[in-house]
Amino acid sequence: MTPADDLVVQRPEGLYCPPGNFYIDPWRPVDRAIITHAHADHARPGHAHYLAAASGEGVLRARLGAIDLQTLPYGEAVDHFGVRVSLHPAGHVLGSAQVRLEHRGQVWVASGDYFVAGADDDPAESNATCTPFEPVRCDCFITESTFGLPIYRWAPQRDLFADIDRWWAANAATGRASLLLGYSFGKAQRILAGVDPSIGPIVVHGAVEPLNRAYRAAGVALPETKLVTEITDKASLRRALVIAPPSVQNSVWTRRLGEHGDAFASGWMQLRGARRRRSVDRGFVLSDHADWPGLQRAIRQTGAQRVIVTHGYESVMVRWLTEQGLEAGAFSTEYGDEKEESAEVVLEPAGA
Ligand SMILES: [Zn+2]
Ligand SMILES: [Zn+2]
Repeated sequence: MTPADDLVVQRPEGLYCPPGNFYIDPWRPVDRAIITHAHADHARPGHAHYLAAASGEGVLRARLGAIDLQTLPYGEAVDHFGVRVSLHPAGHVLGSAQVRLEHRGQVWVASGDYFVAGADDDPAESNATCTPFEPVRCDCFITESTFGLPIYRWAPQRDLFADIDRWWAANAATGRASLLLGYSFGKAQRILAGVDPSIGPIVVHGAVEPLNRAYRAAGVALPETKLVTEITDKASLRRALVIAPPSVQNSVWTRRLGEHGDAFASGWMQLRGARRRRSVDRGFVLSDHADWPGLQRAIRQTGAQRVIVTHGYESVMVRWLTEQGLEAGAFSTEYGDEKEESAEVVLEPAGA
């Protein structure tokens, strides 16, 4: 196989499919963009045409507004100049998709971000707020590697949410609100779907609620949520779980909560230093990305002989893959979690 046959190559605008003449999650404005999911670093404004998974339409429009969007149900195919394109669940956030490309007998899959935890398949460890990751056989797999280091192993979700519930209940018992910081899109809804709403009221920041609406409209069951401005009774706020994006930390917005405990929910919380730098009471290790055993399992299940690693720990991942006898390389991209975080600052409605 020569590089001239590659179905995805790097261009300054983003990952490009030469025979199909389209981009996947481009970071500069292009004519045709296939979007794996609506996180800000993967779904950028300014493209002329968008193609995305049907279940992601609501969240994509909540973030990008009026775009020229064609949607495709998971598993259905469209043809672009002889390239058969289909989208398959990535289990990362609502509507997240892997992009399968088939051309002249060759199959490539670009993962976008995906979530799969542990070395073995266990439905209890899937993301409850979206369709679980589905392995797709291919010749070449383009994988993310956000948590591609052996130290990243997620605990069972049951244990993690029990920890969060205990922290919330203990705060509520002492009359303090529980401020849990997490990304507005994806993380906030995972938390909502996982906690025990009988402990107290759940309050969300104004940046979170539009995404909740999109999830509910797509049929994802989430407990009742209120905006802080809708809480008139101060006593109920002191028993509340408050979910807000990381950008509110130390802002005037948190003052209306009164005395409160705070915590951060992120895969990065696995690192001791990360919690200290965040200066929060608690760090909960909750990620929407695959852990190290999950990455290995996902890659193995594709059966791919060639793997291209994108954002994350590319060099560690490439070395491990090469040791497994696979042909491995890396693409440098402009994707990354930090951008998701800063993008949420822009989305916050004034006074929310
Ligand atoms: Zn993402
Ligand atoms: Zn990403």
